[in-house]
Amino acid sequence: MSWVREAYYPSWQQSLRMDREVFRQQSPHQEILIFDNADLGRVLMLDGLVQATERDEFIYHESLVNLAWASHPAARRALVIGGGDGGCLRELVRHADLEAIDLVEIDAAVIDASRRHLPSIHRGAFDDRRVRTVIDDGAAFLERSGETYDLVLVDAPDPVGAGAALFTETFYRACRRCLGAAGVLAAQFGNPLLDAAGQERCAGRLAMAFPAVAFALAPVATYLGGALAIALAGEQPPVRRRDPAHALRWYDAERHDGMRLLGAALDPVPGSIPSLPGRPAGPAHALPAMQTH
Ligand code: SAM
Repeated sequence: MSWVREAYYPSWQQSLRMDREVFRQQSPHQEILIFDNADLGRVLMLDGLVQATERDEFIYHESLVNLAWASHPAARRALVIGGGDGGCLRELVRHADLEAIDLVEIDAAVIDASRRHLPSIHRGAFDDRRVRTVIDDGAAFLERSGETYDLVLVDAPDPVGAGAALFTETFYRACRRCLGAAGVLAAQFGNPLLDAAGQERCAGRLAMAFPAVAFALAPVATYLGGALAIALAGEQPPVRRRDPAHALRWYDAERHDGMRLLGAALDPVPGSIPSLPGRPAGPAHALPAMQTH
């Protein structure tokens, strides 16, 4: 038994007890660690940062996928960027009306390790006939790809290392190009209070790339701070248009609306222009709940 410390924020850290180490590998991209914890179940960490635990990953994956899916009237094609643990795929393949699901993950070793050691997370979704797995940088893939999608799910790690490429205005513009008029992007956006400035910068970039940006807030205990912002973006403000045909553990219509209600405090004020370096200053990019006191 030992303790694994997650130290992302300078002044607030968490420790998880490692009761049994299951897998550890230094891939060309990052250190992959999978271990068991008596309360959290199996845990996936990359470069010392929690990616998923069996205990609460369903809240994150069900929310990220279905906030986007329900905001599209008739999605047929979905793209996951990152997501090598297969949790997003698991939620996508439940939707019988999806015809094609691409997953672009930079690190083949994460997929290999997850396939072997995290079966309760992916539940065989990698082998669904609609799923195509591509090993590539998601940002580079989108620059080259002529594919179009109805849903883009950015199941990214925190904006450090290779993950930083998934939080740029260039990347968001590439996402918009591959989405149709009704297309919806959903992206994990970290904790809105602990990294208010970083999140506001990323929200500004997203708002430069998409005409409509909104947020939801999901309660995920093992992401430090316990509340995870999920950004939604598209041509029009995202509204819930339909309900999944299957029952889920966390996500349903009421929780969709509740998560949106909580996240609405982070929504950019309509018509505001984020003031970013190299852009003319506009009205303040108001994200009230993310400001520090
Ligand atoms: N839900 C998780 C979180 O917020 O902590 C994200 C989980 S998922 C495992 C993140 C994946 O994104 C990792 O497997 C990582 O290898 C992948 N990734 C990081 N940068 C990437 C990039 N530029 N393109 C594609 N995948 C990337």
